[in-house]
Amino acid sequence: MSLNPLVDSRDVRFVLFEMLELEKLNRFDQFKEFDRSMYEDTLELAEKIAIDQFYSSNADGDKTGLKFDPKTHEVKVPESFHKGFKAYVEAGFHVLSFPQEKDGMGMPASVAMAAAEYFNAGNTSLTMYCGSITGAAAIIEPFASDEVKQMYLPKLMSGEWGGTMCLTEPGAGSDVGALKSKAVKQKDGTYLITGQKIFISNGEHDLTPNIIHPVLARIEGDPEGTKGISIFLVSKYHINKDGSLGDRNDVYCTGVEHKMGLKGNATSSLSFGDNGKCVGHLLGKEREGMKIMFRLMNAARIHTGVQALGQSSAGYMHAITYARNRIQSKHITQMLNDNAPGVAIIEHPDVKRMLMYMKSTVEGMRMLCLFLAYHEDVMHVSPDPEERKASTGIVEILTPIVKAGISDASWLITAEAMQVYGGYGYCQEYPVEQYARDTKVFSIYEGTNAIQSLDLQMRKILMNPEMYNYSQLRKRMNDAIDNAKGVVDEKYITPVVRGLAKLDEVIEMMKKQLGEGKFMALVLNATPLQQAMFPLIVAWLHLWSLAITIPKMKELLGDSKGEERQKKIAENNEAAYYSGRVLSSQFFIGSEFPKYFGMMDAILNNEGAAIKSVSENFTGAPKE
Ligand SMILES: Cc1cc2nc3c(=O)[nH]c(=O)nc-3n(C[C@H](O)[C@H](O)[C@H](O)COP(=O)(O)OP(=O)(O)OC[C@H]3O[C@@H](n4cnc5c(N)ncnc54)[C@H](O)[C@@H]3O)c2cc1C
Repeated sequence: MSLNPLVDSRDVRFVLFEMLELEKLNRFDQFKEFDRSMYEDTLELAEKIAIDQFYSSNADGDKTGLKFDPKTHEVKVPESFHKGFKAYVEAGFHVLSFPQEKDGMGMPASVAMAAAEYFNAGNTSLTMYCGSITGAAAIIEPFASDEVKQMYLPKLMSGEWGGTMCLTEPGAGSDVGALKSKAVKQKDGTYLITGQKIFISNGEHDLTPNIIHPVLARIEGDPEGTKGISIFLVSKYHINKDGSLGDRNDVYCTGVEHKMGLKGNATSSLSFGDNGKCVGHLLGKEREGMKIMFRLMNAARIHTGVQALGQSSAGYMHAITYARNRIQSKHITQMLNDNAPGVAIIEHPDVKRMLMYMKSTVEGMRMLCLFLAYHEDVMHVSPDPEERKASTGIVEILTPIVKAGISDASWLITAEAMQVYGGYGYCQEYPVEQYARDTKVFSIYEGTNAIQSLDLQMRKILMNPEMYNYSQLRKRMNDAIDNAKGVVDEKYITPVVRGLAKLDEVIEMMKKQLGEGKFMALVLNATPLQQAMFPLIVAWLHLWSLAITIPKMKELLGDSKGEERQKKIAENNEAAYYSGRVLSSQFFIGSEFPKYFGMMDAILNNEGAAIKSVSENFTGAPKE
């Protein structure tokens, strides 16, 4: 197995240091001890572990999968996962962006996000176990009592225990408020939990001796719906006073799902309190469950976007190498020459188009993820309340787009990677079909993309007071347009300007529909709005980057043309990088982005056929 890079590290550096100018974060006290070389070292280590330990076990996770023992209720992950998990934890990646005063390493979220792309490109199933540790710790730290913190936090922060996130039940998927799990308060202040949770990632495994489950349940007598939900910590093992593991708590894995992808990750059914002895500790106050779980879910939604980015990047990188080496068909200009040799498929215009589509979209995903992470950093550490508020607005509006836009695109990108491979791409001997299978679930879990779209349209845009979030994003977009003027050809600026005007028009129409109470027509366009905003945002980010890459390219290539230019590009990696980056931005704005206008016109068209349809119109299929 070749261990090639799975992520274009040069591009990661470009986005972090040239676009976002990450060192500017060092003006904040929390980050002042860091410098670029420390960030670079961290990313180099992430890449090394991701390739050596994660990627090397990715196919094993898919082919060997998990072993569930119904007698012991235990799950064994593939043996090859243990080394990667250990390397990740030993290097401290699980607490990379946790504040130092809370036993973390204190690095910016932007660096942690960039590192996460490497791990997810290597092996997403394994990265999920790693990420679960910090997820649980992130809600225990602010919401648990001192006693509970002492019980759980040290072992989570040291990476000795794992975590989960338990919301879903058979009758409560998108509708979390429909959950049936119950909690009954005991005299000692703990709660007895009963209920069934399904589809729980990392729900049972042998990577850590203990697993902490944050569980949503309703305390007896509390109201129906999300208002009545509380959150509890349920440890797989009871904890003794000295912190060691005691007896087994009454929570058991009853099975793992046989899935299309992510076969190395234990998507578990968990049964709580079958023997009436499942003890849980309340987090926060009673009925605060959704508020607290939202913290974890927001982080998980952003992370889902990074999972999708990692898989897309890995698929794209494999496709480039394959296209450079697979010889098939003559060059189009030699079509009629029987003696012409076959060429590498990367020479064919359609393969170039596929690679450019992947390159420009993956770069767009990366810019979007890191731009959001940069604002997460500012939102948490800036001493200036206005600056914090502005960055919070940006994080809020972009979270559903990072989750939904990137996950939808990753399904297309990984499919395109298979297409580049032709028939070989469809075969399990080659790595790309696994990426397509692994990536599909990102549009489904952590709240389906339909739920993300409703969140974007209603909560993040239309019902956000004075549409503050949108105005903050719009401001950044206008800045990019201003900066591009005089540097970037008008041909690439005008579509973005027109695109923004179109978005304003659509939002005005939706505001009116909201005011008039036309809810069905309004929410019918939630997903189309989200799906259209993704390419607009990617086009804006490409325009921003063009204002940096064009001068750099000119500096390196001057006015050279034809063979002379080709030679310079072949001999100079930097010239190859900047000229390639300019081309991919031009490709995205010129070839991909125009589709956005059709998407927006479809929204403005307000076709009501889908709303008028009733169940009976969908003929042919049985009623039950
Ligand atoms: C591999 C995997 C891992 C998972 N990990 C976890 C985990 O760790 N923890 C956890 O708690 N859960 C987890 N889940 C569950 C996941 O979050 C749910 O599957 C998801 O929320 C959707 O719920 P559902 O499957 O019941 O689908 P449903 O809610 O039944 O949805 C079916 C369809 O109806 C649509 N729909 C439903 N309601 C609406 C609405 N109001 N408006 C518009 N459309 C709607 C949905 O978008 C979807 O297309 C996981 C799932 C999988 C497959």
